[in-house]
Amino acid sequence: MADGKALGKSSIGVDEARKLINAGMSLVGIEEVGLADALGRISASSANALLSSPPFDVSSMDGYAVRAADVSAAGTTLPLRGSSRAGVSEIPQLAAGSCMRIFTGAPVPTGADAIIIQENAESQGDAVRFTVAAVEGEYVRRLGLNFKSGQEILGVGRTISARNIGLLAAAGHTTIAVRKRPRIAVLSTGDELAGDPTAISQGRILDANRPGLTASIKALGGIPVDLGIAGDTDDAIISAVRELDADLLIVTGGASVGDHDRVRPALQSLGFTFDFYKVMMRPGKPLMFGELKGIPVLGMPGNPVSALLCSLLFVKPAIEVMTGRAGEGPIYDDARLAAPIARTGQREDYLRAIYTVDDSGLSVEVFDQQDSSMTALLAQSNCLVVRPVGAPAAAAGEMVKLIRFDTMANF
Ligand code: AMP
Ligand code: MG
Repeated sequence: MADGKALGKSSIGVDEARKLINAGMSLVGIEEVGLADALGRISASSANALLSSPPFDVSSMDGYAVRAADVSAAGTTLPLRGSSRAGVSEIPQLAAGSCMRIFTGAPVPTGADAIIIQENAESQGDAVRFTVAAVEGEYVRRLGLNFKSGQEILGVGRTISARNIGLLAAAGHTTIAVRKRPRIAVLSTGDELAGDPTAISQGRILDANRPGLTASIKALGGIPVDLGIAGDTDDAIISAVRELDADLLIVTGGASVGDHDRVRPALQSLGFTFDFYKVMMRPGKPLMFGELKGIPVLGMPGNPVSALLCSLLFVKPAIEVMTGRAGEGPIYDDARLAAPIARTGQREDYLRAIYTVDDSGLSVEVFDQQDSSMTALLAQSNCLVVRPVGAPAAAAGEMVKLIRFDTMANF
């Protein structure tokens, strides 16, 4: 294949890889969901209030509704005429020169413009004596104080939270337009892989990537599509993706150029064109990206630590782009090294580590062992220390950048 696209670029940086991957994503469609199912979904349009809140002036305290002009001085006594409480079907009318009993959440009677709290009132049978002067507007929540009909209450491309759902409900919405969850197909490849413990035998290992990636896709708001395990043959890989229907395909393993790394040749026989196949990062170097019949494809290294790291660095932003967001890279924190670390080589390093918080901020200790097969250390770590290409050795006390896992739900 002669064109540059088919040949692909080799050896690019993490940021460039993210940009290229993001550029290969398409927006997914929109669906309308009930508010009960909207938590964590991404708003596909803005939403405006369908009514005002409060819908009429309400009292924010228990006390007496008055005309402020009628109680211009402490010691005033007014006749008591009626009451207003939350849920009354009609807004009552305050007779001139009188007061009305009122409770929190009740409509302020027409004609009243202040509430005097009950602590500042003495009941005298059918009259009330006030120990303070009224202040116009006091303890009255004006119509529309919270929001006015037509006001925007939710922006587009927002992750819908419990706070948003409470507001949408109060504003008259029962459903909301959200982006569909991107469907992300996951295929593990490798002759050595067994799908479950009953299939394990001499020379085989259990597939960690499908379960791990499937979970991370769910945590990131996608729908995983399980394509199973394919052996290291072109036929097995081709038949696994033949009926492919997804917004993104992730294939793990077999992405290098060894004799048994059949992912690229197998997909190419189906018309796969690729953009790049190496990213200068550790772990995770042989990352392949391209397109198969209009579906973007990410080929990840088989090592389970690499696969999950690629999910964090590339699948997370890709899902964001597919659902109408910017698709930024990770959020970094600054931390002090608790112990020295070695220099970085020609690749960006992502080191499993544990951070703790003390009086002077974050302190971080990197694990001595960083082999990309060691998922136990990944599960034990709570962050990754990120070191740029060619970073020198760093002493204890020096500042480094880290990505905290606790900023990403369930990662
Ligand atoms: P590969 O990218 O196919 O060269 O695989 C690199 C390493 O990751 C090898 O040691 C594989 O056995 C291992 N590996 C590949 N796929 C998986 C998987 N799905 N689960 C666990 N380990 C894997
Ligand atoms: Mg392999």
